[in-house]
Amino acid sequence: IVNNKTIIISNRLPIKLTEENGEYKLSPSEGGLATGLGSVYKQGNNIWIGWPGIEIPEERHNEVRKKLAELNLIPVFLTNEEISLYYEGFSNEVLWPVFHYLVTYANFDQIYWDYYKIVNEKFKEAVIANLSAGDTIWIHDYQLLLLPGLIRSELSQVTIGFFQHIPFPSFEIFRLIPWREELIVGMLGADLLGFHTFDDARHFLSAASRLSSSNLSENVLLYNDRQVVVEAFPMGIDSKKFEELTKHEKVAKFTASIKASLKNIKTILSIDRLDYSKGILQRLQAFELLLQLHPEYIGKLALYMIVVPSRDTVPKYKELKDQIDQLVGNINAHFRTINWVPVHYFYRSFSIEFLSAIYSSADICLVTPMRDGMNLVSKEYVASRVHQDGVLILSEMAGASKELNDALIVNPNNIGDIMEAIVQALNMSTEEQHIRMKSMQAIVAKFDIHLWVKNFMDKLKEVKMMQESLH
Ligand code: UDP
Repeated sequence: IVNNKTIIISNRLPIKLTEENGEYKLSPSEGGLATGLGSVYKQGNNIWIGWPGIEIPEERHNEVRKKLAELNLIPVFLTNEEISLYYEGFSNEVLWPVFHYLVTYANFDQIYWDYYKIVNEKFKEAVIANLSAGDTIWIHDYQLLLLPGLIRSELSQVTIGFFQHIPFPSFEIFRLIPWREELIVGMLGADLLGFHTFDDARHFLSAASRLSSSNLSENVLLYNDRQVVVEAFPMGIDSKKFEELTKHEKVAKFTASIKASLKNIKTILSIDRLDYSKGILQRLQAFELLLQLHPEYIGKLALYMIVVPSRDTVPKYKELKDQIDQLVGNINAHFRTINWVPVHYFYRSFSIEFLSAIYSSADICLVTPMRDGMNLVSKEYVASRVHQDGVLILSEMAGASKELNDALIVNPNNIGDIMEAIVQALNMSTEEQHIRMKSMQAIVAKFDIHLWVKNFMDKLKEVKMMQESLH
């Protein structure tokens, strides 16, 4: 009997591992990717390989390994040093800023690169140890760009898919990375390379055709005598889940209390991880400009701003946090009245039920990243609007803007443009809100996370068949 399996690989496993009084506890991750791929890795003998999220002393590796195996999960154990240099260092201080076009934020430190290679090797060892002939491998994201090539050099026939969840920059930006060639060669180990947008795919094709021996022909490269296909797969969300969440009792309670606290006040919602790619400061500036130029909104409009703590060991993130704190403080100190505050600022994460309530309560959702691979918050807002009202203002630099054409699309660097979009949203008729929201909902509902997984897996099969027919 042939019992082929699928192996998912990402930096982090789709669980949260915590230590309490010397005991390890597991809790499931609610992230979109974990949900979407749940239908894959939980089936049969499929597995997911990744880092469990904390450093675990060697003498307890076996114990954790056993616990995870029950859930089809295989850990790659990393030391704090490896996490600091491979993950915080190379992934988040080199690849993240450069791929988001913030080149001056990058630290091209040799030791980061050395550890990036070491850890990608470690992942390779884990894959090889769990691989059988006929298996399908699906690698995720920018922390593992070398992994496809490392696996390929040991097993030339294996099926490898790779998906990058962040943008791929234009060649003139990408070429600034000292190790650009090795990165491209690593990626070309895959048979199918997926990106969120057509532009990302095009940028990769252009970089790959210059830096490797590939022959460019539309979206197929020939590398070491093997066809490599590059395509856009815009990632979706679990749209049904967000729609149904709004009916939960807990969510209804949250919604009622939010509405009661904001009586007769229009609300603008803003949700991001703390990140300089998200345009949080510019968004605050646009809101400040609105209050300056349109004092008629004072006392009638509030910005609900949720910033989820993230990467706070990286200096640039700490700096940004201070700047946000200061600007929020200034705006509130300047414009507040005895019984009204303009910015409701939260630096924490919330339960999915609270998020659902705030998505369904907000009149406007303001999503203005400087760069974003996709941006799921914008899609979650759309899916949560069960009454088909509300207005989405969306940056043209977010991958989602390629699909959600009926949002008010803005340039995130243009503060005046954002401010005017807010005014337009505040004055938009219910009729127009319905038309726009319905059309966006149709897209979000159809191209959901499950279709995304299916489309990628189907394409990977097709690519493998094409390769075989050509040989
Ligand atoms: N999110 C969360 N807890 C919160 C606020 C947001 O888990 O308190 C989730 C949100 O629902 C969304 C994700 O974080 O699914 C953010 O994804 P997005 O693509 O917008 O940005 P990323 O953080 O991946 O850059």
